[in-house]
Amino acid sequence: MFDYRFVTLLGATLVFAPLSVLFIFISGMGPGLFPLYGLIFLWCDYRREAEAHVIFLFMVTTAGVVLAASAAAQRNVLGAEILGMWILVWALGLHHRRGADVLHEAREEMAKLAGSLRDDESELTRLNAYQASAAVQIGLRQDLTESARSLGSTLDGREVHVRLNGILCARFAGSRVRIQAWASGDPLLELAMKAGTVALVKDTATDARFSSGGAGFRSGMAAPLKVMRQSAGFVKVESDQAGAFGTQEVQSLDLITTMASLSLENIRLYETVQEQATHDPLTGLFSHRAFQARLHEELLRAGRSQTPVSFILCDVDHFKTYNDRYGHQAGDSLLRSVASMLASFARPVDFPARYGGEEFCLVLPSVPLAEALDLAERLRARVEAESFVFQGVKTGATMSLGVSAFPQDATTASQIVRVADERLYRAKAGGRNRVAGV
Ligand code: GH3
Ligand code: MG
Ligand code: MG
Repeated sequence: MFDYRFVTLLGATLVFAPLSVLFIFISGMGPGLFPLYGLIFLWCDYRREAEAHVIFLFMVTTAGVVLAASAAAQRNVLGAEILGMWILVWALGLHHRRGADVLHEAREEMAKLAGSLRDDESELTRLNAYQASAAVQIGLRQDLTESARSLGSTLDGREVHVRLNGILCARFAGSRVRIQAWASGDPLLELAMKAGTVALVKDTATDARFSSGGAGFRSGMAAPLKVMRQSAGFVKVESDQAGAFGTQEVQSLDLITTMASLSLENIRLYETVQEQATHDPLTGLFSHRAFQARLHEELLRAGRSQTPVSFILCDVDHFKTYNDRYGHQAGDSLLRSVASMLASFARPVDFPARYGGEEFCLVLPSVPLAEALDLAERLRARVEAESFVFQGVKTGATMSLGVSAFPQDATTASQIVRVADERLYRAKAGGRNRVAGV
């Protein structure tokens, strides 16, 4: 109801006024009451009312002067007391100024402390944010390490696609993930194909490239899969919400698809090395090493199941002369033609191989000697009938063949080859262009 200042001034006036009345009208009390005025000053000071000091000092001085004019005997005492009041007010002011200075310094110190506290708080906030982002990064790296391990630990290209799909579905939960071979007809994939890297569409509703509508998603990312710098398919991640993907998601997709591409590339390299190790580069038939391993397996299997295995060894007749007459390239071409004829005579279970030079062989599981002789004869006739045109020139060639079989001729791989070789030699000795089976 009453404010602080009102109470101070009312209190001081209520004390000052009666005292002054007493002071003026009751003679003899004047000088003795000045200490009470001092108490008023101290009270005002206690109430922190600096203005009241000035008002009451003025009134006390006036009252003292009036009193001194009427009581000449007490003039010196009154003068000293008025002076004492002035000194008291001055001392209180001085004390306050010092207090104010101390307070000011304390406030400045506090402001500094508050400033450094604010700095510490912002540093702490920054550190917390850094810690949170570091935790996210560590989690992401662990995911990526796991993904790299998963994608790199298979030698099956289809399995890489399956695992890639699983990784992307887990990483972009709530989004649609698709892996497809072609980009044509899909604007998002076409963007990735043109860019050669991850393409990002934040919102198809506002993106001019999708102004024709019908995108089927609001935001999406797409990335190409590449093997030996060639396209090996595309990956796309779509969401029905705008702005579902940002820089971090783009980086993740880029890393994951790069890892998948590397895995596919490794598989391709492995397959190439395998192919080179097991196939003859000129004819595409199995190599001598692959043939040896297979023949060994087939004879073991035949031994267990007591089923026949036949073996045909062929050699192009006078091939040295052929090379000399038509050139080495024509010779190579002839070898390729004979190889494809041999392959065309083989069933899926048979094993046609280049034995070496101009020699070929055919392993025939479950085929008895008589059938193998028949097949060898058909093969010989086929080669004899072929023109082997090279650069417009009809060349022509013949082939001699030796045939052997398990179990009547041999029980081991080396035996069956040796017997066929002996018979081939006999076919050569007998005039070439013939089959020898006994
Ligand atoms: P034969 O009727 O007794 O088998 O006589 P041949 O001339 O066929 O036999 P020979 O072993 O004397 O010669 C084989 C030739 O095959 C010699 C070699 O230069 C040739 N040759 C081996 N490998 C290749 C090849 O990959 N390409 C070509 N063009 N020639 C080859
Ligand atoms: Mg030869
Ligand atoms: Mg020969």
